[in-house]
Amino acid sequence: MSILNRKLLIRPYVSIGLVVVLFLGTSGVIIYFQKTLLEIEEALPIKLAKQESDIRVLINDMGHLVHSIDFARTDQSPKTFRMVVRLTLQIEQHLEKISEDYQFNDVLGASAVHARLSPAIFDIKGWLTDGLYNFEPNSAQTMKVAETRARHAHEEAEILLQQVSRTAIDVLTEQSLRIDNFRSIMIITLTALAIMTIGLVILGFRLQNIVFALKESEEQIRYRANYDSLTNLPNRLNFTEHLSDALARNRRDQGQIALLFIDLDRFKTINDTLGHDFGDELIRQVATRICQAVRETDVVSRLGGDEFTVLLANMTDEIHASIIAKGILEQLARPFLLFGHEVYSGASIGITVSPQDGADAMTLLKNADMAMYEAKDQGRNTFRFFTAQMTDRARQFLELDKEMRRALTQNELQIRFQPIFELHDRSLVGVEALLRWQHPDKGLILPDDFIEVAEETGLIEDIGHWVLRRACFEAMAWLEHDLHPGFYLAINISMRQFKGGLDRKRLSEILDETGFPADKLLLEITETLLMDDDARIREVLSDFREMGVRLAVDDFGTGYSALSYLREFPVNTLKIDRTFIQDISTSSSNRRLVETIISMAHGLDLVTIAEGVESSDQDVLLSELGCDMGQGYYHCKPVAAAEIDKLTAVTAPRVKAV
Ligand code: C2E
Ligand code: MG
Ligand code: MG
Repeated sequence: MSILNRKLLIRPYVSIGLVVVLFLGTSGVIIYFQKTLLEIEEALPIKLAKQESDIRVLINDMGHLVHSIDFARTDQSPKTFRMVVRLTLQIEQHLEKISEDYQFNDVLGASAVHARLSPAIFDIKGWLTDGLYNFEPNSAQTMKVAETRARHAHEEAEILLQQVSRTAIDVLTEQSLRIDNFRSIMIITLTALAIMTIGLVILGFRLQNIVFALKESEEQIRYRANYDSLTNLPNRLNFTEHLSDALARNRRDQGQIALLFIDLDRFKTINDTLGHDFGDELIRQVATRICQAVRETDVVSRLGGDEFTVLLANMTDEIHASIIAKGILEQLARPFLLFGHEVYSGASIGITVSPQDGADAMTLLKNADMAMYEAKDQGRNTFRFFTAQMTDRARQFLELDKEMRRALTQNELQIRFQPIFELHDRSLVGVEALLRWQHPDKGLILPDDFIEVAEETGLIEDIGHWVLRRACFEAMAWLEHDLHPGFYLAINISMRQFKGGLDRKRLSEILDETGFPADKLLLEITETLLMDDDARIREVLSDFREMGVRLAVDDFGTGYSALSYLREFPVNTLKIDRTFIQDISTSSSNRRLVETIISMAHGLDLVTIAEGVESSDQDVLLSELGCDMGQGYYHCKPVAAAEIDKLTAVTAPRVKAV
């Protein structure tokens, strides 16, 4: 489980714990306040009741005193008198106690009672012990005065007691009102606090979710930056880092690593013809198969498109790299099932080894790429180890490209024309335009030395356009002569020109510009172009045929084209490759092969041209085999337009049109 996932699991527990703590805390506070309030509520009435009862006891005693004095006045016995004195002392003590007890806590006005009764008791006690004026302490007169004083004091105390009761009720009412208010405020405050807490917790959760989402998208961004979204394999950036790390480790441990560069052989065709969904599915399945063919520790990545790399670290032997490459090729040679369609792809692999071939990531990637192209050149579905010569070739390639661009602008390109003759009567039936490069230093360069590079770099699009315009323009001179009715100008067209936008419109523009008639133009295309099975090319070729332009398959027999293509494409001429012609007079198998091609072509209503006819034997034999036309050094080498002009000026017998 990733660290991120673990964090995602832990965080909610922390939040829930926080909520529980807050909830318990708030509840605790509420319970505490409630309890305190109850205590206050209960304590006050008890206190009031005690004060009230103390005062009531005092007033009762005062009542007793009044009755006792009254009784003692009539009784006149010393015993009764002593009882009155004792009661007076008792009341005095009681008064002192009340005064002390409620000195600081006089809620009900005990001091008022004290103030009323104390002087009376003081007087009565004095009179009863010292006597009154000239009366004896226990005389009837003294007792009478004392009784009157006691009665008045008692009555006043009674009135005060009533006030005390009212005060007690007022105090309790006020107190309970205050407590009620306090309780309400407290409950409102705590409720608000609780709501705020819940709000904060919810906010916290939401913030946390936002943080998680941000974290997640950050992870995703990081993932996207490092991994290919289609295959989930490391991407170029990530792979380069792996490679650099492995190289650094290697320097330390003095080990060896190999880098495999894999490119699918038929991906583009599958992608173009079946669509991107099929292409994507193929890439996914290829990724899975490559991973199955390597060790756990090897790093497989997708650089983009149909390019994959494998990093083999800790290699002890180069053989190991070739075993892995072979395993991958075997895996990829098996058919792929794409949405119910069975397709074959195959791959080419380039291998480079460090430290022998290079010590940095960029060099190794470049080497492996070069080796991969070499593997493709060797006929695909194979692997090649990088060699130093490949670097030289790459350098030459770049140099050539630069020079060719200059040649195009500096008029270094020229066109030679090679005549094509009817074999049975030697009449001139056409010419093939062949490109030449008059290099200022290197002299004349033939197309085989530069066309391939121009095709790879794409410069052939401009060169091809130039050839079409130039050849048509130069050939215009011959049209004034009395030519063979089927006379044609053949021009080689590279597949790349179609991809670069050669179509009906562009060809019409050239023909309009030069004035060359479409029905005298024959375009030579290769077998590989037919194999490409590109609907657009097929459409363009049909357009050309509609315009009256003829089409020939050049170098027939060297490619792997299925014969069915000849029926499907609107071609009308087959040019049998020179390699079949060159030993036709000595090799019976070649002769039979050429014979078969000719009869098959005629069966399909196609005209045949033999290329590279170098001897009269070949010329005679081809004529016997029924080949229609021939082109070769035996008849004429490629020459300048002026030479052809001379040839066309000779009236040629008209026998057969192409
Ligand atoms: P190709 O179209 O098959 O042209 C015939 C080649 O055979 C020419 O080579 C020609 O000089 C050569 N040839 C003719 N007769 C004989 C013979 O009797 N013996 C031998 N050994 N060779 C003979 P070239 O001119 O060097 O052209 C080579 C190839 O370059 C052409 O093969 C064609 O595929 C390509 N090419 C030439 N010009 C152009 C062009 O303008 N555009 C494109 N895309 N390709 C061109
Ligand atoms: Mg040709
Ligand atoms: Mg040819």
